[in-house]
Amino acid sequence: RAKSDLWRTACFYEPSMDETVRARRNLAADLREALAHHQLSIHYQVQTSVSTGQILGYEALLRWNHPQRGCITPTEFIPLAEENGLILQMGEWVLRSACATAASWEPPYKVAVNLSAVQLAHADLPLLVRQVLEETGLPPHRLELELTETTIFADKERSLHMLRQIKALGVSISLDDFGTGYSSLDTLRSFAFDKIKIDRSFISEAASNPQTAAIIRAILALGKSLGVAVLAEGIETSDQLQMLNLEGCDEGQGFLLGRPAPLSEILDSGQITLKGRSDGP
Ligand code: C2E
Ligand code: MG
Ligand code: MG
Ligand code: MG
Repeated sequence: RAKSDLWRTACFYEPSMDETVRARRNLAADLREALAHHQLSIHYQVQTSVSTGQILGYEALLRWNHPQRGCITPTEFIPLAEENGLILQMGEWVLRSACATAASWEPPYKVAVNLSAVQLAHADLPLLVRQVLEETGLPPHRLELELTETTIFADKERSLHMLRQIKALGVSISLDDFGTGYSSLDTLRSFAFDKIKIDRSFISEAASNPQTAAIIRAILALGKSLGVAVLAEGIETSDQLQMLNLEGCDEGQGFLLGRPAPLSEILDSGQITLKGRSDGP
């Protein structure tokens, strides 16, 4: 045991590791700056009806434009923000901005916002959501909150309690990355989600792997019998879209339907009209 501890200590003090730790610490400090100096922005990715292509809403995806390192992806900086607690402020900013933005759109488009486990564990989320809806004037039925199983399992009882209160406001709750968690069926049993989002890793094999296709069909059947809408994430090819349409999948999202983009691009493309503006051709 002593030997392995020594070994671990020796490994820990390798210079390359030191650098990694320092790099992470720098990035964490930069993140604080980013929040204060408006380097964070939100991209919006369209969610559509699979059968008609009709636009249903947009998912808000956080972006960090670092002054030296360029665009840093959320998978890199969100874990960092969760570690140092900044995610609470960041999450509040995303929620408020996304709701204010969606409130400026001509109805009925919805906006979907991702939540972190830390927000469910530490913030008075139902209160925050209610305040943000009041402030921005966004009707509750136009807000969707997305959670993954890992988010919920951090503290399952507390999470479910929070989610029930938020749902009572009229806000819908989606289960993100479905199929990749460790007990997806138990999660479905515990809470009445409004939507299941099938993880991208299934969709990428939808048209090529019969076994994966069978699992997708089973999830769609599950959604139907539970009365829960199902959205397919990460649709990249028309073969995948066709398969999902044939199998009766309600909603889709993915590069084929639209890449995440700044709001200005989405407004330029004419997908969304701003309230009180009827600038037709
Ligand atoms: P997610 O919520 O599952 O979001 C979907 C991710 O898949 C996005 O990555 C999106 O850009 C990407 N995507 C969409 N369509 C396609 C496709 O056709 N092909 C491929 N290869 N990818 C596609 P992104 O923006 O890098 O975000 C990654 C994750 O970071 C999100 O996964 C979400 O879990 C988290 N995240 C993003 N914004 C926030 C936020 O504001 N708060 C929190 N807590 N988490 C966030
Ligand atoms: Mg999501
Ligand atoms: Mg997802
Ligand atoms: Mg994901």
